[in-house]
Amino acid sequence: MSLRVRFAPSPTGYLHVGGARTALFNWLVARKENGVFVLRIEDTDRDRSSDDMVRAIVDGMSWLGLEWDEGPYSQGAAVERHKAEALRLLEEGKAYRDFTSPEELARLRREDPDAVIHFPRQAAAELGEAEAERRAAADEPHAIRFRVPEGETIWKDRVHGSTRFRNADIEDLVLLRADGSPTYNLAVVSDDAHMEINLVIRGDDHISNTPKQILLYEALGYPVPEFAHAPMILGPDGKRLSKRHGAAAVGEYAGQGILPEAMMNFLALLGWSPGTDEEVMTPQELVERFSLDRVVKKAAVFDPEKLAWLNGQHLNRLPLDDLAERVLTQLDPELGQVARDRQSADPAWFSQILDLLRARARTLDEIGVKLRPYLVDEIAYNPKAVKKHWLKRPDEAADHLDALHARLGQVLSPNGWTEERLEEELRALASEREVGAGKLIHPLRVALVGEAVSPGIFEVLVAMGRDRSLARMSAGSLWIRSRETDES
Ligand code: GLU
Repeated sequence: MSLRVRFAPSPTGYLHVGGARTALFNWLVARKENGVFVLRIEDTDRDRSSDDMVRAIVDGMSWLGLEWDEGPYSQGAAVERHKAEALRLLEEGKAYRDFTSPEELARLRREDPDAVIHFPRQAAAELGEAEAERRAAADEPHAIRFRVPEGETIWKDRVHGSTRFRNADIEDLVLLRADGSPTYNLAVVSDDAHMEINLVIRGDDHISNTPKQILLYEALGYPVPEFAHAPMILGPDGKRLSKRHGAAAVGEYAGQGILPEAMMNFLALLGWSPGTDEEVMTPQELVERFSLDRVVKKAAVFDPEKLAWLNGQHLNRLPLDDLAERVLTQLDPELGQVARDRQSADPAWFSQILDLLRARARTLDEIGVKLRPYLVDEIAYNPKAVKKHWLKRPDEAADHLDALHARLGQVLSPNGWTEERLEEELRALASEREVGAGKLIHPLRVALVGEAVSPGIFEVLVAMGRDRSLARMSAGSLWIRSRETDES
């Protein structure tokens, strides 16, 4: 039978990093093995679930590119089946009615946590079956508990290897609560069996549920699936990853200029490695390389720096027209329109600039910000850059800009305005003025892009074009001189 896996999130309002990693591992295995990937929303807790929350999960998965083959199914829609399974176990003597009140249980748990494991079963035995049926018929509130059999429960976890639990340590779990609602363990087993899931991949916070679920599969007469428990994810401070670490919803990274393929790559490496030095992988490469054998038990650490680095790597591998589209949709509408107009007028020019900017960028947003000086007339000067390269020796800086304007102004576009020619002219000017080339390049860079860093200055001049570059030199010089007059 072919592989069937599932992702079964509780709809808590967003797709968090841990959930996304679980979803991804399932997706990777399904794609690699030609299996079926089922999405099931565990919305039994009706108060906490809503359509918006389901949408948040579905949107997060779609953004990441984790398409599912079946679903999204709603767990809540199968409540009647869950109840029927519990009643069947009751009829077969594999479950029993428990009339212990929640208050009493809480008290027992406080007083002797070990004894409480056996209490409900003893109380039920003392009550006797006939009395239990009579009280149930009289609508007395009670839970239905699974009668955990004796022995041991062992499974061969695909990550943790042979894993065993003594059944004596497992409490007779509640299947149906006093209000008639099914519990997680019953619902998940019933659904996984019903959907013919044969491999359950989830976070290792569920390990202690697994023996209970295996016992339920056996009691219900269903085939037991395989299990793989992925390691938990810690924040950079070594504590369990949470919203505190700023890593709540996966979708939030879209707003920060992270590419979905970089996020996918990053998530895959949380607990898995290909066993080589290779780190940057496309979704297709991940599918080819992924295997549960290389998922580790040790907790993984979420490192935002690594995400940024991977994003930079993916930015530099995207086809340029694809990158252009993504940058454009990220820009504010006004600049976006200007950029689109310029792009359609000269697509090659637009691609050239993106190629230049992406070499140093780590997010789409960064490219958007750096693109601005190539598109608009007025630019903002970074105060730090101004202080460092203009205002230490303002006269000199303004003078250099004027000289550059005069000199480079003699170079004609389009044929002359090349990197080689501009470099030649600038270096000649520097030696005439008896200064190092840097003395001209630094103030020039601030004038052109407003920053102390940029791609190579000659590439910038070419990408910006003759007219805009010359206008920026004049504007820079003017700005410095007007500042000087202000201050004198
Ligand atoms: N709804 C559970 C969760 O979000 C799923 C557990 C499972 O995969 O079995 O943790």
